[in-house]
Amino acid sequence: MALLTVENLSKQYDNSLVVNQTSFQFESGKCVALIGPNGAGKTTTLRMLSGLLKPTSGTITFDDMKQNADIRGNIGYLPQHPVFFKWMTGQEFLIYVGRLANLSKQEAESRAERLLDCVGLTESAKRRIGKYSGGMKQRLGIAQAMIHQPKLLILDEPVSSLDPIGRRDVLTLMEELKKDMTILFSTHILSDADEVSDELLLLHEGRIVESGSMTELRDKYQTAKIELGFDGDLHKYKEQITDLPAVTDCYIERDLLHVNIQDMAAARHNILAIASAQEWPLTSFAINRASLEDMFMKAVNG
Ligand code: ADP
Repeated sequence: MALLTVENLSKQYDNSLVVNQTSFQFESGKCVALIGPNGAGKTTTLRMLSGLLKPTSGTITFDDMKQNADIRGNIGYLPQHPVFFKWMTGQEFLIYVGRLANLSKQEAESRAERLLDCVGLTESAKRRIGKYSGGMKQRLGIAQAMIHQPKLLILDEPVSSLDPIGRRDVLTLMEELKKDMTILFSTHILSDADEVSDELLLLHEGRIVESGSMTELRDKYQTAKIELGFDGDLHKYKEQITDLPAVTDCYIERDLLHVNIQDMAAARHNILAIASAQEWPLTSFAINRASLEDMFMKAVNG
């Protein structure tokens, strides 16, 4: 059963429909990336799912709850630009948000301690947040979002504004968290989605234009091409490769033989078999995989 089901969700501001009849669902235990360029409608979608923004139309169903029920108790949300009291320590801040979430003082203290450990901030627990780096603040923000033990963690662009070290720390934390939690996060940086997510939702101009696991999308958008490098003259091999049954055509460009194929498994086998039998001086053999960027462009342009 799906943990979250979104059907025909729309948001209109004045005359502009910024989220347009969006539908998707995902199961518990997944790490789902909502990807799209700036202005695609990611923040608007996540704010509606978090209960911070009222949809113009459509339904949101969480787990076995009623359609459009108040699901805020099940959701932990990290906004794109979280705001902290700089004068508080990380520990004080988490106890404070724990108390706001109606935890007893003792419970807030023990959960703050556990969460500081979980996000790797135990040693900095008593430092003022104003002295934290961007990555540390983002990790504190993730701890804050988890204070009430939500079933779903929603993170809006959690790494986009961070320097490489902060980015690496937060991506590593997300890798750890996704073992125990369901995560939905947005990003416009495709390589981040590629790195940590199990499932992808591609959002363009307020609509989901494609969705699925990375493997499913790779299969669908596979460019079906192999590139070969040789020591010496490439022309000697071109004709023999073109004659192989799984190959449609073959051309030379930038010191590589580009082989368009019908059947990846057969072509790989045939090329490697002939190269081995005739002792070809192969220097490289690369299957050209569709990048997430290629997939996005194809999904958008049809
Ligand atoms: P993303 O997170 O993908 O960058 P947003 O959801 O922030 O996209 O914005 C989607 C579109 O909605 C943008 O064109 C933005 O200008 C517009 N928008 C967002 N919030 C408002 C608002 N409160 N009033 C009017 N337009 C808005």
